[in-house]
Amino acid sequence: MDLVDPFGRTIRDLRISVTDRCNFRCTYCMPAEGMQWLPRSEVLSFEEIERLARIFVERYEVDGIRLTGGEPTVRAHLPVLVEKLSHLRVPATSSSAFAGRKPDLALTTNGATFRLVAHDLRSAGLDRVNISLDTLHADRFLQMTRRDELTRVLDGIEAAKEAGFSPVKINAVVERGSNDDEVVDLARFGRERGVEVRFIEFMPLDAEGGWDRSKVVSQDEIVAAIDAVFPLEPVPARGAAPADRWRYLDGGGLVGVVPTVTKAFCGDCDRVRLTADGQFRTCLFETREFDLRALLRDGASDDDLAAEIERAVGTKWAGHQINQVNFIRPKRSMSQIGG
Ligand code: SAM
Ligand code: SF4
Repeated sequence: MDLVDPFGRTIRDLRISVTDRCNFRCTYCMPAEGMQWLPRSEVLSFEEIERLARIFVERYEVDGIRLTGGEPTVRAHLPVLVEKLSHLRVPATSSSAFAGRKPDLALTTNGATFRLVAHDLRSAGLDRVNISLDTLHADRFLQMTRRDELTRVLDGIEAAKEAGFSPVKINAVVERGSNDDEVVDLARFGRERGVEVRFIEFMPLDAEGGWDRSKVVSQDEIVAAIDAVFPLEPVPARGAAPADRWRYLDGGGLVGVVPTVTKAFCGDCDRVRLTADGQFRTCLFETREFDLRALLRDGASDDDLAAEIERAVGTKWAGHQINQVNFIRPKRSMSQIGG
């Protein structure tokens, strides 16, 4: 059956955070020091994640799962989880393009250690990967991530291609005063390497509370900068995906922009999220969470878990409030929720 929210949106996409830990400290996400990690006992086991994912896929016909974090590759034995998820099947009766098949399995990673796991993840059934890369300058990379890892991330992108992931996408957060002068260079990098760059507007989910509107580089600005050098045409029909996409007129591929702040796409949102500690969220910016871990560990049946999932989805709001005066930042920041 479809899982439909009060605004008629059918849930099709589940984002699962597998850890709140990370080997980077990106300034727009985490503080330099002092992050309080979840005790391991509070983090869902692979079996618990698999059980919840099975309900979403087999009961509610969710056909896309993205693993994220924190940095998902720091979770030991990640391919084992991917392999478990690859055995799930979207019901054959579903209207989904994935009917009768495993859901689309994707991963978002900072890429620094991706070469070490690329092959195993691919063999385990991972379909797609997004690697984050905000700058091509080593000194700036160190400033933005607080880690000197540009070379390894670039190598991680090559490893993803070599392992057969297709498409490989690049996520680039654009922050005014940090890397907004690199939009065209990053677009060129994507064209030359045959990877699709997705620029992301800076969102108010950084742990240090440094976000303000003046640091947001809008989708319009990003597209205008690229179009001036590499002419673009829009690709119609984004559907439920968060990125609007453009095609290079010279055949150089595609580029996307996720305009969370300046052109909220909540009306088409089909996503829900599970945090590493088993809290279910219906929006990145929600302040409410539903404790599926407590139910799981209290011996709840699948029907009990499904009832709580339906109750939560029944509260999914029309959209986030970033652009309203009454916007309240969620207590947890991006890496704790799972971006
Ligand atoms: N560690 C992995 C990574 O960086 O790709 C996965 C988790 S990270 C939270 C997921 C995505 O969120 C990354 O592409 C990251 O750049 C992005 N992100 C983090 N903080 C953000 C913020 N304040 N605004 C916009 N995007 C952000
Ligand atoms: Fe870690 Fe990703 Fe957050 Fe950077 S954006 S600190 S890599 S979780």
